[in-house]
Amino acid sequence: MKYIDPHTHCFSRTTDDYQAMYLAGIRVVVEPSFWLGQPRTSVGTFRDYFSSLLEFEPSRAADFGIHHRCTIGLNPKEANDEALAAEVLEILPEFLSREGVVAIGELGYDLLTDAEEKAYIKQIEMGLSHNLPIMVHTPHRDKLRGTIRSMDILKDMDVPENQVIIDHSTEETTALILDRGYWAGHTVYPETKLTAERFANLFFDFGNERMLLNSSADWGKSDPLNVAKTAVYLESRGANLEDLQRLVWDNPLNFFGLHRMNLPDVLGAVPSDASSRTHSLIRPELAK
Ligand SMILES: [Zn+2]
Repeated sequence: MKYIDPHTHCFSRTTDDYQAMYLAGIRVVVEPSFWLGQPRTSVGTFRDYFSSLLEFEPSRAADFGIHHRCTIGLNPKEANDEALAAEVLEILPEFLSREGVVAIGELGYDLLTDAEEKAYIKQIEMGLSHNLPIMVHTPHRDKLRGTIRSMDILKDMDVPENQVIIDHSTEETTALILDRGYWAGHTVYPETKLTAERFANLFFDFGNERMLLNSSADWGKSDPLNVAKTAVYLESRGANLEDLQRLVWDNPLNFFGLHRMNLPDVLGAVPSDASSRTHSLIRPELAK
């Protein structure tokens, strides 16, 4: 089994983590830009952080045999420092067209404030104009309301549903997200929020279509191996290996698009369902 972790924060992890990830079969990671815990006080620290996701972190990952891609965006929490947020939004376009950027994100709501909404809308516009998929973070408090509001805005802005991940979904939101045509991202945490067991119930209820699994491993209590560990758990619950491989490899590759992920052929980067007509992102010459 080979894995893509489509949402993990390597910036906060150690070289031991990278080593363990490789040993577990994780070959590709997507690292969304996020809140670093300590609030930033100037736009320069955002600039340095984005550069590190595009330059230093991919080379650190490569030392351990892992292909690193990223998403760039102003996170919802820091959108509430409005003066700083305006400066960050100003510099974002410089980064969005860089090689290795596979989406804009993570965007959305934290406390559902007006300032968060303003930054969210602005960045959706940027995603559309840069032809990038959108990764939406949903709030951990008031998740249902935040998720519905996030999707309503996307709908109002005519964003194609298959270009959006609504992330950190739980039992409360997965059906809604899938019904509306978006991809449902699921973060499995060690104890809180969503566990492997609870994700397994969702997987057996909803199947594979537009389902994604990630670890969101960061500076908090989290586990960078949770994609692999959850797949093993799903196998023990009777999931077949082909379905699992699709969940943890083909699906993220299809979502972000082969041309953006730009993986070496040795990884067998063409998904098994690459000919699927529903995925407009795939280059026809690769969809054989
Ligand atoms: Zn995250």
